[in-house]
Parts: sequence; structure tokens; C-alpha cells
Amino acid sequence: MNIDKIKFDVLSPAKIRQISICEVVTDELYENGQPKHGGLRDPRFGVAGRRGRCTACNMTWSECSGHFGHFELPCPLYHVGWMSEVLWWLKCSCKYCGHVSDKYLGKKCQHCQKSLPHFTKKNATVIHIKDEQGVRPLHAVEAFQMLQRLEIQQVQKVRKNKNLFHPSWLVLTVLPIPPNCVRPAPTLDGDQVRGEDDITRRLLYVLRIALSAKNTTDENSVVRSHSRERLQEAIHMYIDQRKMPGNARATQKSISERLVGKEGRMRGSLMGKRCNYTARTVITGDAQLDMREVGVPRLVAETLTVIEHVNRLTYDKIKQMVNAQDKRVKYILRKDGTRLDMKTVQGQVQLQVGDAIERILQDGDPVLFNRQPSLHRMSIMCHRAKILEGKTFRLNLSCTTPYNADFVRKWTGIGVFFF
Ligand SMILES: [Zn+2]
Ligand SMILES: [Zn+2]
Repeated sequence: MNIDKIKFDVLSPAKIRQISICEVVTDELYENGQPKHGGLRDPRFGVAGRRGRCTACNMTWSECSGHFGHFELPCPLYHVGWMSEVLWWLKCSCKYCGHVSDKYLGKKCQHCQKSLPHFTKKNATVIHIKDEQGVRPLHAVEAFQMLQRLEIQQVQKVRKNKNLFHPSWLVLTVLPIPPNCVRPAPTLDGDQVRGEDDITRRLLYVLRIALSAKNTTDENSVVRSHSRERLQEAIHMYIDQRKMPGNARATQKSISERLVGKEGRMRGSLMGKRCNYTARTVITGDAQLDMREVGVPRLVAETLTVIEHVNRLTYDKIKQMVNAQDKRVKYILRKDGTRLDMKTVQGQVQLQVGDAIERILQDGDPVLFNRQPSLHRMSIMCHRAKILEGKTFRLNLSCTTPYNADFVRKWTGIGVFFF
């Protein structure tokens, strides 16, 4: 399957239930050493280890990308990432007649002439409401009820993007539970489970509070609001604990911390890294080099290999190199795909047109030379390699401008070199 676009959307509670493969109903993980059904380690979440097949889709560890589950929250709760959106919708709508505008309504609704409460953001996790009863924090339950009153036609009227959306979806009522592979249990020798992943532990904490809140029959409003606050806090700690005011650096990571930043999933794990057939070291200047040349340290040249194909023109030259057991030739690649190590074949090989050799870099080989930041196309240019002693890449001083490399202030520009 080819991916031609990715769309980002807010999941509706109905959609969360639709994509869910199972509902989490217990905070117990294991039962008699086996993952418990309806727990956070339910086998339907996907393959837990490298062995076995997924009970949900019957695929192996490398094929199954896991399955989402869901958990029904005992009451609506804020999602830290959407606090400002919630605030915007509250300020732009009338909770009496359901009128929605594309700008803040102010003190009075122009539609029904009723005076509206005033909403302010206190910090990243708290919204304050000011009405006849005075100033108080607005609980997610109340915000959810206000947003729920808005009609979908009114909502679509002010939105540029016409996909299906309702502001009440910004408040969590159902919690999607990520698959097993998102939060694999740390194992010892592949099989033995040793503890749990941070995400699982955070979810477990949410579950414990939520389940005890569900089971309590206490009608005491103080007790209920206290447990609601604890649950809200647990959800924040799960999604993004950095937004919590005055929260000391916790040892466990929340979801957002996994994604954000240099070490995060996007910049750290998914974006391009150094790859094969490249080398990286400091660059220095060399006035004796031609402008078209780049000086390559011998150490680099002997490690990097270049594929040279055997054809009518190169046959004699390559054959002679192979038979003479030239140290520059490392591997022979046969037409049928086999790869022969020169150390083992000892030159006893019948070369054919269509084969290829892997040899080390030599003078005159075209190479690509790059210096970050690659701001324009001249940040990557083709040069001819020139093998030199020393450990730095050398370039003629006339080439410094396009690479924005200067040796005048400091001699420590970094050059990445690749073939
Ligand atoms: Zn599966
Ligand atoms: Zn109104």
C-alpha cells in the first residue's frame, strides 16, 4: 500500500470506540503469569514479544503494528494539549442559545442578549470562569456540558476546514489505549518480563483512580471532586507532565516527552541520520588542492567502498586487479547476487561482464561533499576525491563561501562526506 497523504484530526469518542479492539476494565496486568483479558496487557493489543502471533490479526511481530483499545472515563476530563482550543470555543460561543461566532463574544451574546460568563486561562492546565457566582476554576465536566450544547451546523459555520468536528471532542470522555508495541515491557533475555514501560505505569495510575471513582457510591461532593481532581492530574501526567505547574522533574516520561525534541520520536528516531557510504569529520583548508578536489583522509578512503561494475571497458583492468589480489578490492558481487569476500577467494575467481567489485576509494572518484546547515543546494556539491594524510577533510579556500565554512574565526566546521 502506498501512502499519498496523512491527515491529522481530533478523534471523536465514537471513532475511538470504533478503532478500539477491546475495552480496558481492570487495573490488573497479569493473571497466573498470563496477560489478563481486559487489562493493559490484553493480548489483543498486539504481539508483546518477538515470538508468537497476534491474537487479533494472526500476524507476527514484524507484521502486526498493534491495535488500540479504549477506556471509558468516569467523567469528562481535559486534554492538556487542547486547553487553549477549549478556551477559544468557550469564548466564541453562547452557552444559552448555542450561537457560535468566529471571534470572542464578549460580555453579551448578540443573539439572545444574555450576559455571558468570562473565561480566562490561569495556567496551562486551569481555566477560570467568572459569572454571578464569582471567579472559580472551570471543571472539565462543566466545560464539556457547555461545548456539547453547540450545534454542529453552528460549529461548521466558523471553521475553514470542513471535516467533521465537534468542540466537545476536545474534552476527553474516552481514553484511547495505545498498543503493546508502543509500550513494550522491558524484558530479560527476550522472554522474562522485568517491570513495565513508563506509559503503561502512567496508564495504570489513571486506571486505579478511575476505577475506584467508578466503584465508589459515596455521594459526598467533596470526596467526588477530590477524586476527579486526582484523576485529572493523572491524565495530565500521562499526556504531558511538563505542563503541570510546579511539578518536579519526574523519572517517568509522559507521551509528549517521547515525541518532542532532539531525542524525541520525530527528530531522534524518524528523521535522517548518518547513513552508509558516508563519513564525517572536521574540515580544514588546503591551498594546494584544486577547487574541484576534496582532500579525504586515508583512514576514510580505506573504509568507504565504491562499487565498480565490470563491463567491456573495465574488464581487463578489474580482472588484473582481482587476479593480482589487489588490496584495494574488498568484495566481488556476482550477477546472481552472491557476495564474495576477497580474503577468502584469494583471487581465484572467473570474472564476467555484469559482475561488480567493491573497492576502496581512490584519487579521482566523484564524491558528494556537504556541510551543515544545508541551506541551499550549494551546501552539497560534487568533488573529486584526493587521498591525503591527516584526519580532516581538506578543501580549497575558494570553496568556503558556498558551504559557508570559514577557517578564519574557528577551524572547526564539520564536513559530512558521502558517496
Ligand atoms: Zn495484530
Ligand atoms: Zn446567546
